[in-house]
Amino acid sequence: MRLLILSDIHANLAAFEAVLADCQGAWDQVWCLGDLVGYGAEPNECIALLREQPHLCLAGNHDWAALGRLDLGAFNSDALDSVVWTREQLTAECRDYLEARPPRLDLDGFTLAHASPRHPIWEYVLDLDTAAENFGHFEAPYCFIGHSHVPLIFLENAKEGALYQPAEFGARFLLDDTRLLINPGSVGQPRDHDPRAAYGLLDTDGLVWEHRRVEYPVQLSQERIRAAGLPERNAYRLAVGW
Ligand code: ZN
Repeated sequence: MRLLILSDIHANLAAFEAVLADCQGAWDQVWCLGDLVGYGAEPNECIALLREQPHLCLAGNHDWAALGRLDLGAFNSDALDSVVWTREQLTAECRDYLEARPPRLDLDGFTLAHASPRHPIWEYVLDLDTAAENFGHFEAPYCFIGHSHVPLIFLENAKEGALYQPAEFGARFLLDDTRLLINPGSVGQPRDHDPRAAYGLLDTDGLVWEHRRVEYPVQLSQERIRAAGLPERNAYRLAVGW
């Protein structure tokens, strides 16, 4: 099966549409790793567009926050304002949809977790120690994670615990018998200083993974964020990819 793997759309419809257009015809199913909402101005529209695709989807911390399922003390003020705004906007249908998403799924050969397999809602996997510890928290050879918004690969390593491999966009990465944690990056709010939307394609027959990037009309998303009265920083950061 050919999979479109994406995460952290964050209510950025223009970015999501650009990703779908960029890889049209190249996949059979979407695996979405959560955080459909939060920060951006089109939460209901992004959920509707995802639901038009054959897909699996997890819940992330922003989705849970919008549902009132998280203590908001850990959110900074811009994130908090975005949560409150999103909560008011979500339709009953979209709330029900998000309510039914799990934060982790264990499939045949693959584990999916929004943040990390150990703590699927909250943990950032950005350093070797955290990655090494997380290899003990799933059985499958490969685990896909989102949450940090940074496209990357960690490889399990007997000596070091984990090795880091930066994403190489457009390059084929062969999955062999090395266990992996893979983050496709964020569709709607990249944080690796590259404003392009990030996603990945996985061919489960050939066991080939590819990190990809695509430009989208950032200004359009910024205008919609400003028109909605969301925090200015939500708009500004899209242009710098942070
Ligand atoms: Zn996120």
